[in-house]
Amino acid sequence: MHLSGGVLPRPAETRIMVVANQKGGVGKTTTTVNLAASLALHGARVLVIDLDPQGNASTALGIDHHAEVPSIYDVLVESKPLSDVVQPVRDVEGLFCAPATIDLAGAEIELVSLVARESRLQRAISAYEQPLDYVLIDCPPSLGLLTVNALVAGAEVVIPIQCEYYALEGLGQLLRNVELVRGHLNPRLHVSTILLTMYDGRTRLASQVAEEVRSHFGNEVLRTNIPRSVRISEAPSYGQTVLTYDPGSSGSLSYLEAAREIALRGAIPQQEQHSPEGTQ
Ligand code: ATP
Ligand code: MG
Repeated sequence: MHLSGGVLPRPAETRIMVVANQKGGVGKTTTTVNLAASLALHGARVLVIDLDPQGNASTALGIDHHAEVPSIYDVLVESKPLSDVVQPVRDVEGLFCAPATIDLAGAEIELVSLVARESRLQRAISAYEQPLDYVLIDCPPSLGLLTVNALVAGAEVVIPIQCEYYALEGLGQLLRNVELVRGHLNPRLHVSTILLTMYDGRTRLASQVAEEVRSHFGNEVLRTNIPRSVRISEAPSYGQTVLTYDPGSSGSLSYLEAAREIALRGAIPQQEQHSPEGTQ
């Protein structure tokens, strides 16, 4: 496909990225599916785990997720192997999805009484045998047990921030949860990536928010911002990512660029990759 734009370096081991922000509608799902498609189009093998009962990521990837479809609910609550629910995504080679159905709405409560309730997703991912370069987990807009399962399973937290007033409100709570999970359950966990979404460069508010986010977070903030784009918002209604729906659009190009930054940041440094033994 012409839009793949070359191959990016693949990570030495699977990068598990949790796309989280308990604020609703900030672009978590849009970011998950479009980054995942961008990485897959660059030659990576990518699994999207839809951890939101709304099933928006499944819809956007054109994956059937009516009530009878085997889903991430079965994995979390019934201990079904992840490989039993993963489906390939049409049109994008190397991209896969574990869908969410409406059943998942009950999981938040059902999980409470189960053994190892916080680490069920982590166990399921560890037992998955297919090779993967990236796992991207789309979280619901809450900090309940589903999001905790994602934070225990992942190593990197990706926070999409919508460039509007109140953008940073509530982030403190998310960051505290990340700290708690890191301290008690998953020492590898860290916020690796902040992505500014729905950015409208013509407004002063957007640039003020961007400046504020950059001064708070510095290095974690990607250089690429995702612009507000009608094509991005239209794509899910066709069961597509913007990468296949309108490959040349500004939205598509910005997600490709963001994916490139993420891939390059996680790559093994050139020196380590190539230097012969004993020269370091
Ligand atoms: P929720 O908290 O409900 O899971 P979310 O954080 O996953 O929401 P999205 O569903 O990705 O957010 O986005 C919210 C809405 O904004 C959707 O209608 C989506 O199509 C739209 N949207 C997301 N990003 C953009 C963009 N860059 N340009 C235009 N519209 C966008
Ligand atoms: Mg969502």
